[in-house]
Amino acid sequence: MKTWSTPVAPQRANCIPCALCGGGRFRPCLFCGGFSYVKCLSCGLVQINPQPEAEEVRRRYGEAYGEDYLAYELANEAAYLRLQELALRDAGFYGLEQELLKRGPPGQGRQEQGPGKETGPSVLDIGCATGALLARLKGRGWRAFGVEISAPQAEYARRERKLEISTEPLEANHFPGESFDAVLASHLIEHLNRPEILVQEARRILKENGRFFVTTPNIAGFQSRLFRGKWRSAIFDHLYLFSVKTLPALLARNGFRLESLVTWGGLAAGIAPPPLKKIADRAAKCFGFGDVMIARAAKAG
Ligand SMILES: [Zn+2]
Repeated sequence: MKTWSTPVAPQRANCIPCALCGGGRFRPCLFCGGFSYVKCLSCGLVQINPQPEAEEVRRRYGEAYGEDYLAYELANEAAYLRLQELALRDAGFYGLEQELLKRGPPGQGRQEQGPGKETGPSVLDIGCATGALLARLKGRGWRAFGVEISAPQAEYARRERKLEISTEPLEANHFPGESFDAVLASHLIEHLNRPEILVQEARRILKENGRFFVTTPNIAGFQSRLFRGKWRSAIFDHLYLFSVKTLPALLARNGFRLESLVTWGGLAAGIAPPPLKKIADRAAKCFGFGDVMIARAAKAG
């Protein structure tokens, strides 16, 4: 089954150069029924092109499908939270957390954290949805902030979880430079018209030793090769499909040093008997052909 997505619809679209290398030569890559992806002949980045205008994309998440999207997120948030926490563990997030919490001023433990208290490490979750992960991190001692352009989800996170959430796109917040210890973007970068702007802005707002954690589908994985245009991540909302090569290249090009890259998910639930799925999942993680990947990157010199 495919991931939830905005229905395919006619849109105002423009041909754009490759978002990674600026190249202008592509070959057809995936045909998905009503829309398709091309692959850059120079660097291998896969993108929808012509690409819908940013205004159209914002409308998808902001207004037209807002309440449906909230219902979808709420129905799945426990499962997503579990996956996000497993991914963060694989990417060494909790080691970083331990280090940062240890460094906090004496006498200012996690019980004293709260809005307005200038203690504890700071984390920004971009595309935080209903704030389930942020609430968990806040409970662990982080000062937690979120960006979520889907207003019903942001409102839910504020109301039910007492979180600080902005509905402005990341760069419109003008967060002060070097203000976060960790920036997270889970299943976000593939939705953006200009993924390089996310990476540049994450770099600007991260502290010198801060880390950027990016989770996104891996088009070099086993399942995309098996399902091609029917791959669950080949959806109208995913403007880009990154790989274990193109995601690190985008990070490196925009001032990050890759520290780790882990993939997971060998076979989707329901398409293989559990014992086979278990073996495939283990092999995918081991050999890097998993369906989804998480990168941990540090600001390069
Ligand atoms: Zn390219």
